[in-house]
Amino acid sequence: MVYEITHWIDGGEVAGSGSTQPVLNPATNEQVGTLHLADAATVDRAVQVATAAQREWAQVSLSRRTQILYRMRELMIEHTDEIASVITREHGKTLADARGEIARGLETLEFATSITQDLKGGFSANVSTGVDAHTLRQPLGVVAGITPFNFPAMVPFWMHPVAIATGNAFVLKPSERDPSASNIVARLYQQAGLPDGVFQVVHGGKTVVDALCTHDGIAAVSFVGSTPIAQHVHATASGAGKRVQALGGANNHAVVMPDANIEFAAAQVASGAFGSAGERCMAVPVAVTVGDAHQRFLTAIRAEAEKLVVGPGDVEGTDMPPVITPDARERVIRMTDEAEQAGATILVDGRGLVVEGFEEGNFVGPIVITDLDRSHPTYTDEVFGPVLVVMHVNNFDEAIELVNSSPFGNGTAIFTDSGHYARRFEDEVQVGMIGINVPIPTPVGYYSFGGWKNSLFGEHHAHGPEGVSFYTRQKAVTTRWPAQNETVESSMSFPTHD
Ligand code: NAD
Repeated sequence: MVYEITHWIDGGEVAGSGSTQPVLNPATNEQVGTLHLADAATVDRAVQVATAAQREWAQVSLSRRTQILYRMRELMIEHTDEIASVITREHGKTLADARGEIARGLETLEFATSITQDLKGGFSANVSTGVDAHTLRQPLGVVAGITPFNFPAMVPFWMHPVAIATGNAFVLKPSERDPSASNIVARLYQQAGLPDGVFQVVHGGKTVVDALCTHDGIAAVSFVGSTPIAQHVHATASGAGKRVQALGGANNHAVVMPDANIEFAAAQVASGAFGSAGERCMAVPVAVTVGDAHQRFLTAIRAEAEKLVVGPGDVEGTDMPPVITPDARERVIRMTDEAEQAGATILVDGRGLVVEGFEEGNFVGPIVITDLDRSHPTYTDEVFGPVLVVMHVNNFDEAIELVNSSPFGNGTAIFTDSGHYARRFEDEVQVGMIGINVPIPTPVGYYSFGGWKNSLFGEHHAHGPEGVSFYTRQKAVTTRWPAQNETVESSMSFPTHD
C-alpha cells in the first residue's frame, strides 16, 4: 500500500502544487510513498503562516515553552518505534541504528529544555554613576532548515528544538528520499501543545530550497548536506541577506599508530566505515596506518569486514544495510573499479554481493582498498558508501600532513596508547571534531557540531551553545533613571564613565 506524504502547514496536511515523486524502499526499490512537492507559492504560504505564529510564540513564557519541549520529549520516546520503522523503510538503515539517531536527536531537545539558563543575559549595575547595563537575546523570526537523507530524524533535531525554544518559527525542508519522519515529528509537536505554524514541513528539492533561501520572510537558513549544495545554499541565502550555517561533506581519516591496540582500532574503524553502509558524515572512509601498524591493521580490518552480515535494515541480525539509491550503489562499484584499474589492491571486495530474496535492492558488501595513490579520486573524494581506503605512512608527522591535506575537515580520529601523540594530534589537525580512540566523535547535544574547511560554510556550528547564538541576536541596553528633580549639565563631548 503506497502512502501519501503531504506538507504540514498551519497545523495540518496540505497537498501543495500537484506534482509528486515516488519514495522508494532501498532494500527492494519498491515504491512505498508518493511525496507531494511544494512550489514557491506553497513555500510562501508556509512562511506567511510562520510569520504570524512567530509573533505570538515569541511572547510565550520560557516556562511554557519548556513545558511543551518536555512533553515533546515524552512523545518522541513513546513514538520511537513508529519513527524508526519509517526511517528503516525509506532510508534502509537498521532499526537499531534508526533508534540510535532518534536518541541522539533527542539530546538536542533535552538541551533545549534548559533554555531558561541559556537565554539569561548579562547585567552590570552602576557601569557609570547611576547607569546600569544589561543584555538580552531575541529570536530572529522565521528560520528554515534544509536537511540530508542520511539522518532524517537526528539532523533536523540539531536545528528545530533550539530554534523553537529561543522563540523562532521553523520551516523544515527534509530530504525528498526519506521525508515521512518529519511529518510524524510535526504531528507530535502539535500534540505536545506547540501552536500551529511554529513548526512546519514543506517537501521538495531545488525549487523549494531556492525559494526558502531567497524568501524575504526567512531570517536564517540552516543547511546540512553535500559540499556543492552547501556552497550553493550559503551563497544564495547570504546573498539574500540571511544568516546561514551550511554544513557540507566529509572524508574523515582515522590514524592508527603502531602502539595502538590494533584489534580494538580495527573494530572501531569497521564500525565507522561500514555502519549505516558508510552513509554518515562522520563515517571513517580512510584509515591511515603508521609504520608497522600497517600489516597488523590490514589483517584485523579484513577479519572485521568479512564477518559483517549485509541485509535489509528490518531483518534481525543485519549489520550493514543497503545504500540509498541504485546510483549510490553504482558509484561505489565504479569508484572501486577505478581504484583497481589504477593499481590498488582490493583487500575485501563487496562489489558482487547479492542478498538472496532482495536482488533488486541497493546492496553492496564492505570494500577495503589499499596501495592507492594519494591523488586518486577514490581516496580524495567523498564516496559515501561502505568503502574503506587504507593509506600507509612512515611516521606521525606524515599522518598529520595527510589528514591536513584533505579539503574536508569534518571529523578525524587517532588510535594510540600515547598521550603525547594524542595531544599533538588534537593540537595540529585542521579538523572540527576529533576522537581519541573514538572513531565517530559526534559531539553530544549540549556541545556544538561542526567541521572546518569544505565541511562548513558560515560562522556557527550546529546545536548546543552555538545553536543558541545562531538562532538569536543580542541587544545591549544602557539604563539611567534620574530623579525627577535631578539636573545634569549637558556636554557635547563623548560620554566617559565616572
Ligand atoms: P544533498 O546535498 O544531495 O541534499 C541535501 C539537501 O539539499 C536535501 O534536502 C536536498 O533536497 C537538497 N538539494 C539537493 N540538490 C539540490 C540542489 N541542486 N539545489 C538545492 N538543494 C538541493 O545531500 P544528501 O545526499 O541528502 O546527503 C549526503 C551528504 O550530506 C553527504 O555529502 C554528507 O557528508 C553530508 N552530510 C553532512 C553532515 C555534516 O554535519 N557536515 C551531516 C549529514 C550529511
